[in-house]
Amino acid sequence: MKTLKNHDPDIYNLIQKETERQNYGLELIASENFTSRAGMEACGSTLTNKYAEGLPGKRYYGGCEFVDQIEDLARERAKKLYNADWVNVQPHSGASANAAVYLALLKPGDTLLGLDLSHGGHLTHGSPVNFSGIQYNAKFYGVDKETGRIDLDSVRDAAKKHKPKLISIGASAYTRDFDYKAFRQIADEAGALLWMDMAHTAGIIAAKLLNDPLPHCHVVTTTTHKTLRGPRGGMILVGKDAENTLGVVAPKSGRTKKWSELFDSGVFPGTQGGPLEHIIAGKAVAYKEALEPDFVVYQQQVLNNAKAMGERFSELGYNLISGGTDNHLILIDLRNKGVTGKQAEEALGQAEITVNKNMVPFDTESPFVTSGIRIGAPAMTTRGLKESDFRTIAELIDRVIQNPTNESTIKQVKQDVHAICERFPLYDFVTTA
Ligand SMILES: *Cc1c(COP(=O)(O)O)cnc(C)c1O
Repeated sequence: MKTLKNHDPDIYNLIQKETERQNYGLELIASENFTSRAGMEACGSTLTNKYAEGLPGKRYYGGCEFVDQIEDLARERAKKLYNADWVNVQPHSGASANAAVYLALLKPGDTLLGLDLSHGGHLTHGSPVNFSGIQYNAKFYGVDKETGRIDLDSVRDAAKKHKPKLISIGASAYTRDFDYKAFRQIADEAGALLWMDMAHTAGIIAAKLLNDPLPHCHVVTTTTHKTLRGPRGGMILVGKDAENTLGVVAPKSGRTKKWSELFDSGVFPGTQGGPLEHIIAGKAVAYKEALEPDFVVYQQQVLNNAKAMGERFSELGYNLISGGTDNHLILIDLRNKGVTGKQAEEALGQAEITVNKNMVPFDTESPFVTSGIRIGAPAMTTRGLKESDFRTIAELIDRVIQNPTNESTIKQVKQDVHAICERFPLYDFVTTA
């Protein structure tokens, strides 16, 4: 980044500081990861200069012969990765992918049924502060108070009662796998369409270490930057034979378009302008990486690490929502430890351990305070940490939570954090001061 250093030292220096922060902190935010250097080179390329509204071979701009090939490669790789019939790799983010799906399937005022935000759901699944809850009639299902798991009977009851046009699955803070087949049965009984938002688990699903939603859902959306470990972005997928299982249903009256065409136009011109071809190139690199055998080894390690960390927390007397995890994250209810999520997040931040406060099901605190923290394994697993390191991480976090205001404890933990980070360098190009 020599050019940037000379041209704009202010921005250069801040990027250096952020890189150091990433290098010297324990990154445990469940939705974050470290993408590859190769992918970042694609994202920082001349492709950022190119307008390419439309799809490969059907653009509204000239000069697209190379970006067409790039986007086609991205699409072919993504389809292979998920055994999908159709994909759109243009959504700028997970929220943008979801916006396109809503536009394609619903009219304002239509009813949708999704997982409650305070039970692990996402803002874009009908929260009253998000367009999904403002424009549509959002209803929710939740988890069982005792088990912390989604109660399929309550989903069925809610579907019968509210007759949604669309049922969403997917979460930001849910530690168990989903029974897509059972959800599909509920959707069919209620005459609803079924949509999975696998933003968090896309990489684990690609590695076939969690159930596959594509054969059961009418449409699947995702981010590309969480467990999938690509650049920041989104994508929409339709599974094999979905056109057949769906018939060529026209959700909007008078339309006889193919299903996939509805989603394409939901992205452009529905909700976006020109695609980010530099990011699409970065996505293509990530899909290539995800098709390699090493990627499965990585995802298995993510699961092993999350499990080892969860077990150590349980031994230390922490309450894990649902009692453990099937995936890359754990959710801890801190109420028996006498600290709120907010206090824990702040104290851990001082020790350079990055987690986020999170609502737990049936939380008694506000969303700004919360009773829980969410801790994820994907990012530090990318750096090479194994089960024993994640048990150590649980112990470091416990030391801070036992003494959230003790400066010397925080100082000691911070030293231990730095020692771990030095053993597992982030990128080979990171130069330390
Ligand atoms: C992260 C996430 C999103 C949003 O992704 P952005 O890229 O931040 O817009 C959507 N849905 C779920 C379930 C998520 O976890």
